Amino acid sequence: MRERSAMSVLYIVVPCYNEEAVILETAKRLLAKLTQMIDAGKCRSDSRILFVDDGSRDKTWTLISGLHRENGVFSGIKLAKNRGHQNALLCGLLCAEKHCDCAISIDADLQDDIDVMDKFLDEFHGGSDLVLGVRSSRKTDTVFKRATAQGFYKFMNLLGVEVIYNHADYRLMSRRALKALGQYKEVNLFLRGIISDIGFKRSVVTFERRERFAGTSKYPFKKMISFALDGITSFSVKPIKFISSLGIAISILSVAGLLYALVSKLFFPESTVSGWTAIVASIWLIGGIQLFSLGIIGQYVGKIYSETKARPKYIVEEMLI
Ligand code: UDP
Ligand code: MG
Repeated sequence: MRERSAMSVLYIVVPCYNEEAVILETAKRLLAKLTQMIDAGKCRSDSRILFVDDGSRDKTWTLISGLHRENGVFSGIKLAKNRGHQNALLCGLLCAEKHCDCAISIDADLQDDIDVMDKFLDEFHGGSDLVLGVRSSRKTDTVFKRATAQGFYKFMNLLGVEVIYNHADYRLMSRRALKALGQYKEVNLFLRGIISDIGFKRSVVTFERRERFAGTSKYPFKKMISFALDGITSFSVKPIKFISSLGIAISILSVAGLLYALVSKLFFPESTVSGWTAIVASIWLIGGIQLFSLGIIGQYVGKIYSETKARPKYIVEEMLI
């Protein structure tokens, strides 16, 4: 491997979905940052800023191609269809892997502080293959977003999925970490879980998260929920194990109930005009539990279904590199 020094080529990978409101400003700020880092001797002058257009329906791609025409430092990949943040990011990272020594991923709204990129590179030069950006606080998030996000991290850890608290997708990955990432062939992609799975030396850099300077969040509540569910079911089989334990517990309970009913019937026949309430209630209860359990199992079966199809995670329509 090449010596980790100012000779390293950096790719900054930015997934964009309907980001016409922010993209030009983002490009300007990232370019200023990259130029400063090149001048400071932290990365090579042929480093790039790579935008991945995740099938936007607005002018995002036109703006990206314009940027590329003006200045070759801007590269672009256009996906044929919206495939979601994680897939767009993966596409950018795997494409960057062929050209770079390390890649930093960051959201297009620059809510993550770009000034800590220097620290990312210092850690990389110090030998880390993964440098994770961690938010020191969530002051700029709404109370709702903060609470749901915190609940999510706690729940994930409870289920045995190792995720770094308050680490989103702002991180640096070395080329060999990117190579490793390319070996994960699963269709249901949960990058944050995979990052913990890869291993290598990693370090953490903390920063303050800001508000979006323009545009709106592309993560409405519905997407957040499906993201969380994907994260859990991609990395943990504990829910299935939980169902089995629940099933065993209920079976034991029902045997006890049966014994109780038999004993009452045999020894206290006059007091066993047992109400139907109990029966109806238990039918509802068991029915509910069964449906719930089937639902969870269905989630996994669905995953197996899409994994066996092994469809491509993204399709590239155009590439400006
Ligand atoms: N994004 C994407 N595809 C999508 C949704 C979002 O590429 O289907 C990108 C979006 O352009 C942004 C990043 O993912 O660069 C994070 O989205 P956003 O800032 O809206 O999420 P939030 O910060 O609100 O969690
Ligand atoms: Mg954002």
